[in-house]
Amino acid sequence: MPHYAVFGSPIAHSQSPRIHAAFARQTGIAMDYVAIEADHARFAEKLAASGVAGANVTLPLKEDAFALCAGNVSARARRAGAVNTLLREGAGWRGDNTDGLGLVRDLTERHGLDLRERRVLLLGAGGAARGVAPALLDAGIHSLYVINRSPERADALVDALGEPGRAHARGWDALPALGEFDLLINATSASRGGSLPPLPMALAGPRSVAVDLSYGEAAVPFLAWARAAGCSHVVDGLGMLVEQAAESFLLWHGVRPDTEPVYAALSQRADALVTAD
Ligand code: NDP
Repeated sequence: MPHYAVFGSPIAHSQSPRIHAAFARQTGIAMDYVAIEADHARFAEKLAASGVAGANVTLPLKEDAFALCAGNVSARARRAGAVNTLLREGAGWRGDNTDGLGLVRDLTERHGLDLRERRVLLLGAGGAARGVAPALLDAGIHSLYVINRSPERADALVDALGEPGRAHARGWDALPALGEFDLLINATSASRGGSLPPLPMALAGPRSVAVDLSYGEAAVPFLAWARAAGCSHVVDGLGMLVEQAAESFLLWHGVRPDTEPVYAALSQRADALVTAD
């Protein structure tokens, strides 16, 4: 049976093994998929020792995975400078990035949002932000403001996007002067370790939509802020997680699973966990 895995740190919370097991049952494909804890120092060694035919890579390893592919990456991974899906090719790896397509599918198909001509705020410039930024631009948004704690990382992301008219890098201190956004996306990992720096209420209004790429408890602080700031619609990262996983599954197995029943089951479970609290 071929083996697959997701690598990251922390990884115990990952829903990816559950999602891929559900896809495998649905499509009748024999495989196993486990979560493997790995930090920057031990990622390459643990990947090599795992014997997997393919892997997902999550925080904080997406830029490491890009480097590991030594240039053998898809166009969208190259534009992102980050890899979330690895496919074994001979003795090496081919890298792809399904995060952006996953987010855009979730927002447009599941939540019925029209992204065209939207003014978009992206908080964070790590692996996830790198994956979603090109896909948002390709979906026809009007402009993208990338804000990051380390400003040089926001600058590097915007430079890589190569759209000086539409994509802009700013520091957190610029937020009060930026006005209202149609779509606000939290792509930081702040709620896992520290806390998100304060956000001005004026960033959002009644027509704004807020998205946290995290899900479960980690999404609560930003989405609570968004509700308080008047956003009409808030979305967590569960739908994106299922959609990006389906794209990885397609790359590995040549079949795109039906994501709706898997998303419905996970949402129910997340509701149950929140209620149990
Ligand atoms: P990375 O480690 O690559 O990047 C983390 C980002 O968060 C950086 O921009 C970092 O800023 C910022 N950050 C961390 N702590 C703080 C803080 N206290 N204040 C402000 N900014 C902070 O992680 P990823 O980009 O891979 O993941 C980010 C989030 O997105 C995670 O919560 C992850 O679970 C989620 N995600 C969800 C997916 C889904 O399918 N739903 C897919 C991928 C990711 P700096 O550069 O200054 O360190």
